[in-house]
Amino acid sequence: MNARTPTSLRLPSVDRALATDAMRALAAQYGHSALAGALRAEFDALRPQALAGELAPDAIADAALHAACERRLAARFAPRLRTVFNLTGTVLHTNLGRALLPDEAVQSVLRALTAPANLEFDLATGGRGDRDDLVDEVLCELTGAEAATVVNNNAAAVLLTLNALAQDREVIVSRGELVEIGGAFRIPDIMARAGAKLVEVGTTNRTHAKDYAESITERTALLMKVHTSNYAVSGFTKSVSEAEVAAIAHAKQLPLAVDLGSGTLVDMAQWGLPHEPTVRDTVNAGADLVTFSGDKLLGGPQAGLIVGRKDLIAKIKKNPLKRALRVGKLTLAALEPVLRLYQQPEHLAQRLTTLRLFTRPQAAMQQQAQALLAPLQAAVGVAFTVEVAAMSSQIGSGALPVDVLPSAGLRLRPTAARQTGRQLARLEEALRSLPRPVIGRVADQALWLDLRCLEAADQPIFESQLPALSAALAGA
Ligand SMILES: *Cc1c(COP(=O)(O)O)cnc(C)c1O
Repeated sequence: MNARTPTSLRLPSVDRALATDAMRALAAQYGHSALAGALRAEFDALRPQALAGELAPDAIADAALHAACERRLAARFAPRLRTVFNLTGTVLHTNLGRALLPDEAVQSVLRALTAPANLEFDLATGGRGDRDDLVDEVLCELTGAEAATVVNNNAAAVLLTLNALAQDREVIVSRGELVEIGGAFRIPDIMARAGAKLVEVGTTNRTHAKDYAESITERTALLMKVHTSNYAVSGFTKSVSEAEVAAIAHAKQLPLAVDLGSGTLVDMAQWGLPHEPTVRDTVNAGADLVTFSGDKLLGGPQAGLIVGRKDLIAKIKKNPLKRALRVGKLTLAALEPVLRLYQQPEHLAQRLTTLRLFTRPQAAMQQQAQALLAPLQAAVGVAFTVEVAAMSSQIGSGALPVDVLPSAGLRLRPTAARQTGRQLARLEEALRSLPRPVIGRVADQALWLDLRCLEAADQPIFESQLPALSAALAGA
């Protein structure tokens, strides 16, 4: 009989198909109900062939059904959130989860996940506590502010600040600072959602002190400055410093809020990195409130931090939106140890993961690239030419957009001149298909793997995947 065209083959019963040793082993691993579900799904896929009398005996052999169930179960239970290699050269990559956290934070989260904690419980009095109490003292110490509060992210911090201080009133912002941050955070939209009325002053490239001063009316609630973190206005430009805007605001008894975006807690210049205004600088310049992200330059978990004047923070904390935007215990568990690292600045560059990545010397990546050159070339074969190349990493997440960190890595070019784009797409796809997907960056007809974020501990994992890369390229 021709194996491909049987006449009256039927699907076996579920019970019978599950009665093999191999299936029993699968049931032990995944549970009977999940296995039976996988088998039924496989039968559903085979049923049209069975009805048409075209079912091949191979398709319903014990081994085939076992393999199909194993495939379906593995796919169903594979985690969707996967660990990847970020070789894009962008350290704080929003799409890849931004800051990586130090071990202190990981251990703290682990404890908070598995044991009760005094999240809102005052251990001194036995009464109810406030979750902000866990970090507000250290935040004030590190920024010089009087008070602090924490919400879900910086977008939430800005929304909450505007709603609490400026609902149904006016907020003055320079036209040069009406930023859009990736993922639909736009100052005019946030302003509208917060119920505040945006009053734009100045022009895109030039805003003067008198533009702010002349726009203040009895309807004004707040003056606001926004750090233009993901672009630079250059050429014939003028903006007004925080200190000047603060003076203008304070002369009319109005507060100044500054959205710093990436706000850093230490001067990055001490490690040879580009200078970025610190939160403390901004508080010292006279800002009454400063909002910034937890997972950008700060190097912590996703969070929005608001620091500033005690009375204004108190007002913000009383706003009902605070309850809706508050952080969970995991965030606080991760944030506190990260902030503690800043209390020991001498150790920061080694212990704060993001700072360690920013400050890796180019020679370290160069050395890694040399070591990986031959094995990677062997894995990709003759279709690609691999070379060690100097590269420029970005800090990322809109921080310091015009500055780059000297780096090194591996550049892969398709050997043939034809269909370069298709070859590169095939290579990217093969890299993404690895057990730990590798994400690089395509530019100038080449795939660039910047090794800044491949720390020594992970290099053996990268290398161990090279045979799989070779197989994926062969199969593609
Ligand atoms: C990144 C950024 C935000 C948004 O912060 P998230 O923490 O991503 O919500 C807001 N304002 C500025 C200036 C930023 O750079």
